[in-house]
Amino acid sequence: MDIRLLPLLFLVLLAACERNHATIVHRSAPYMGTTVEITVVAGSTDEGERAISEGFSEVARMELMFSSYRQDSDLARVNAAAGHGPVPVPRPFVELLEKAKKVAEVSDGAFNPLVGPAVKLWGIPEAPQVPSREELERLLPLTALGGLSVSAADGTVALSRPGMALGLGGIAKGYTAERVAARLRERGIGAGIVAVAGDIRTFGTRPDGQPWRIGVRRPRAGAEPAAVLEMGDGAVSTSGDYERYFELGGVRYHHILDPRTLWPARSGTAGVTVLAPDAATADGLATALFVMGPQAGLQLVQRLPGVEALYIAEDGTQSASAGWPGGGS
Ligand code: AMP
Ligand code: MG
Repeated sequence: MDIRLLPLLFLVLLAACERNHATIVHRSAPYMGTTVEITVVAGSTDEGERAISEGFSEVARMELMFSSYRQDSDLARVNAAAGHGPVPVPRPFVELLEKAKKVAEVSDGAFNPLVGPAVKLWGIPEAPQVPSREELERLLPLTALGGLSVSAADGTVALSRPGMALGLGGIAKGYTAERVAARLRERGIGAGIVAVAGDIRTFGTRPDGQPWRIGVRRPRAGAEPAAVLEMGDGAVSTSGDYERYFELGGVRYHHILDPRTLWPARSGTAGVTVLAPDAATADGLATALFVMGPQAGLQLVQRLPGVEALYIAEDGTQSASAGWPGGGS
C-alpha cells in the first residue's frame, strides 16, 4: 500500500536578513515521526544555534512524554495502567490533557484523545489496514470521555477501563510547538517560528520588522499556496486528509477518525487551517474542525475568541470564518 506524507504548511523564509546585527538561524530535525523546524532571530549565528539546540532538547523531552511509539513514554505507562487506577505524570502531561479535555468539550467530542485503540487498529501510517466494522464497534465503548480522569492537584491521570488508550497525535505537536517557543523566549529570543509539521507557533517579527509569512498548501494540487498568512505572536495548525493516508480499492483512508464511528471522517473537507492564540488549541481544534465539517465547524469558531478557520473542500472550494485574514465567505 502506498503511504504518503506531505507537509501541510510551509514557511516562507526569505534570505536571512541582517539589520542591527540580527540574523535568522534555522534548523530542522526529525522528531515525533515528522520534521520539526526551529527558526530564531538572534544576535549571532552562534547564539541562534545554541538556542535552537535547547529548543530541540525540549522537543525530545515532549516526545518522551507523549509518544505512542515508544514503550518508555509517559503515555505508554498511562495506557498500560488502564483500569488500574491513577498514574503519576509530569506537569506538562497534566497540562496537555487539560487542554485536550477542553477541546473535546467545546467540539462536543469531535476531538477525542481516547481514539487511541482505533488509531492503532487502522495502523496509519506504519501498517495500514481497514479494520472490520465489528472490531471498530467493539472499541467504541472504550472511547467514552467520562473514562478519562485528570487530577492537577495530585499530578495523576487515570483511564477507567482496561483496553482504553490515550492517543495524543491530534494535539501533542501543537503543544510541543508552544512549549518550545516559550523556552526560546525565556532564554531571551525575541522572535522565531517553531513548526512541528503543520502545527506552528510564531512570535515576534522578522529582523526587518516584517511579519512572518506562513503558506497554507492547496490540498489536492498546485504549488501556489491557498493563502499566505502574516503572523506575529500566534499559532496556526492545519489538519488534512492528504497528510497521512493510504488508498485501497479507489478509496482514500486517512488518519483523522470520526469518534462516533471510528472510521475516517468524511465531511467533504480536504483540509482545514486554524488560527488560535496558542498552538495546542490550534492543533486540537484543527483536528476537531476537520471532523465537524465546515457548517458546524465555522459555527463553533464564531463562538471562540481569537480563533479563525479556513476550510478547503475536496473540490477546492474555500470557506472561512468572518475574521479570517483577507475576509470570510
Ligand atoms: P492532526 O494531524 O493534528 O489532525 O491529528 C491527527 C492524529 O490525531 C491522528 O494521526 C490520530 O493519532 C489522532 N486522531 C485521529 N482522529 C482523532 C480525533 N477525532 N480526535 C483526536 N485525535 C484524533
Ligand atoms: Mg491536530
